[in-house]
Amino acid sequence: NVKFQVRDLDLYYGDFQALKKINMDIMKNQITAFIGPSGCGKSTFLKTINRMNDLIEGVRIDGTIHMDGVNIYKDIDVINLRSRVGMVFQQPNPFPMSIYDNVAYGPRIHGIKKKSQLDEIVEKSLRQAAIWEEVKDKLKKNAQAVSGGQQQRICIARTLAVGPEVILMDEPTSALDPISTLKIEDLAEELKDKYTIIIVTHNMQQASRISDKTAFFLHGEVVEYGETSQIFNNP
Ligand code: ADP
Ligand code: ADP
Repeated sequence: NVKFQVRDLDLYYGDFQALKKINMDIMKNQITAFIGPSGCGKSTFLKTINRMNDLIEGVRIDGTIHMDGVNIYKDIDVINLRSRVGMVFQQPNPFPMSIYDNVAYGPRIHGIKKKSQLDEIVEKSLRQAAIWEEVKDKLKKNAQAVSGGQQQRICIARTLAVGPEVILMDEPTSALDPISTLKIEDLAEELKDKYTIIIVTHNMQQASRISDKTAFFLHGEVVEYGETSQIFNNP
């Protein structure tokens, strides 16, 4: 049930080593939380999983990451990887277009043109992101004109619409109010039945509430990794 197998992963930004010998098996159908103080490498590691940072000038990566047994730095192209590994950011970032067009954006890029087919994907994705009932009567409204929590769920729907297997969430609730935060947490728990979910958070309560596994980062190292229930019971 391993989705990602990470072995001896080092990452350097120029001379600075941001990740040190990371070894981790990340499981399917679980929520894995990355926690630790600011600047300890959580985001950097998350971004190595969809190759958002190896194309940056001066970045060097050693070690391997396999997804379903395939080396993502050698044997999959980035476009393919990105459609299988979706990402949700800290700041909700819907495109400046309608709610419908945001969610239809990825499918359209992938060549889906038929209105009925797009309608179906848009509805399904918005339902999966637990926002359909709130927006079904205003799909033509600009996605940037709804609340922050709704924008974040629209962004999750946009990611789901492409049909990923993995959802990376980089502090997805840090910019949200407590009620919206709980909605996103509930949503993550629902989604784990179908996806592999990795969430970066600096919020220990959030990690203990929703994650199955927790990795503690410190100065670029994973200093502890295991079942969340055990990690939080034996600090
Ligand atoms: P976290 O997500 O845990 O807050 P990051 O992964 O963002 O930490 O950053 C880890 C370290 O790498 C920090 O010291 C940060 O300053 C550094 N860093 C992050 N991105 C870059 C970059 N593009 N170039 C150089 N250093 C970076
Ligand atoms: P990529 O640049 O990874 O090839 P595409 O432009 O092909 O991505 O868009 C595919 C999907 O990726 C979009 O439907 C959207 O969900 C997501 N996406 C692209 N750019 C962003 C962004 N800036 N913020 C959030 N999601 C994005």
